[in-house]
Amino acid sequence: MCIFCMIANKEIPSTIVYENDDVICFDDIHPAAPVHVLIVPKRHFDNIVDLSQAVDGLVSYKAVLDAIPVIADIKGTRQGFRLINNCGEDGGQTVMHVHFHLLGGRKLDEKIL
Ligand code: 5GP
Ligand code: ZN
Repeated sequence: MCIFCMIANKEIPSTIVYENDDVICFDDIHPAAPVHVLIVPKRHFDNIVDLSQAVDGLVSYKAVLDAIPVIADIKGTRQGFRLINNCGEDGGQTVMHVHFHLLGGRKLDEKIL
């Protein structure tokens, strides 16, 4: 079982910020900003392409979307944040369970576009 499935199953501890039946959100173990939360569908998809192509992937995707303002409110980043998905080897994905990084808590200057 993959590491994020194990976190979703509470077999590996994490600092959970928010969860419901479809999504779990927890602090990244190596934060790149004062706020760095991983938004992770509980159902395993390798990446966003697999999520997109799954017949009922919309349930998981909507759960991710719905979690965004909830996390922003909990972490106090409503004034701005960045959402990142790394997909595949060239995209720099290291954990092959789809997830979205919500980064904030300071002015994020490291823009590539
Ligand atoms: P990726 O590089 O795949 O986009 O992001 C994977 C992220 O997962 C990294 O930012 C990494 O720090 C985080 N991560 C990897 N293993 C763990 C873990 O066991 N616990 C937590 N909380 N974060 C993890
Ligand atoms: Zn998984």
